[in-house]
Amino acid sequence: LKRIAVMTSGGDSPGMNAAIRAVVRVAIHEGVEVWGIYNGYAGMYEDNMIKLESRSVGDILHRGGTFLGTARCEVFKTLEGRQKAAENLKRRGIEGVIIIGGDGSLTGAQLLSELGIAVVGLPGTIDNDIWGTDYTIGFDTAINTVVEAINKLRDTASSHGRVMVLEVMGRNSGWIAMTAGLAGGAEQILIPEMTVNLDELCSKLSKSRDTGKKYSIVVVAEGVGSAVTIGDKIAKDTGLDTRVSVLGHIQRGGSPSVFDRILASTLAEHAVMALISGISNVLFGSKNGAVVAIDLADAIGHKRTIDTSTFRLATLLSK
Ligand code: ATP
Repeated sequence: LKRIAVMTSGGDSPGMNAAIRAVVRVAIHEGVEVWGIYNGYAGMYEDNMIKLESRSVGDILHRGGTFLGTARCEVFKTLEGRQKAAENLKRRGIEGVIIIGGDGSLTGAQLLSELGIAVVGLPGTIDNDIWGTDYTIGFDTAINTVVEAINKLRDTASSHGRVMVLEVMGRNSGWIAMTAGLAGGAEQILIPEMTVNLDELCSKLSKSRDTGKKYSIVVVAEGVGSAVTIGDKIAKDTGLDTRVSVLGHIQRGGSPSVFDRILASTLAEHAVMALISGISNVLFGSKNGAVVAIDLADAIGHKRTIDTSTFRLATLLSK
């Protein structure tokens, strides 16, 4: 194997740069040339790529986002689009590609492999919803951002005796809400994986106030619905002073945490070494603290379910 490429795709997440940096430096150390594909599958389709050297990935380890850019690319969902992308790679002599992204990007990777390109995936999304890995690159940084926001909301909520409703990201997954809710001591956590009964939520909030709680933090996963609507209902039904915050894209940015940098670097090294050893169609992830290779076919198409024992503990500790 002489030449590989690396790209980021789908939503950006903190740690993607750390992964690209590790791919480039490990590959060069092994005597393999690396190309960077700009803007995910869009760049692969448009033949927008650049040869990367060790120095090309300097000064990016600590930066969020992805210096290669990322995009969503509709034409790659067609066979013609994928064929053109694969031809661009073959013309340049690129035999393998490391694709850092979420479930959709990994589905694209699997389809690309059917056109004779070796692919290895790395889980890059803040949502932590990729099957087969305990953690995705970017999740740890995102939940730390959310917990920081919860800490700040607690200060003001306690001063005014308010209900603070905080909407967090995660698409259809409740991982961010559940984990940050537990770490931040949220009183109520609403996630799409669990039945949400808003009437019950309101009566619990009223009851907790009656039994001495001075304020409440409610974390809502975006997959459940709008925090604004939920906040309106809480205010109307309980009469409690309620405020809503939607954290939004702040959750995607920022310098990656130590955990995300190490996860990204470690998984990236495995990805390069796999391609060199002739292994492809796998996703590298972390399971019980060890690096694991998961068949791409197994990983895609179904999201990782939440850990109900964590949800149970968060509920218990909020009483
Ligand atoms: P995130 O979860 O962070 O948003 P993602 O990788 O799931 O990331 P998507 O928008 O689903 O984000 O996918 C990114 C890109 O991957 C798409 O724009 C498209 O180019 C490609 N892709 C997604 N699904 C498919 C598919 N079924 N077939 C081919 N390509 C796909």
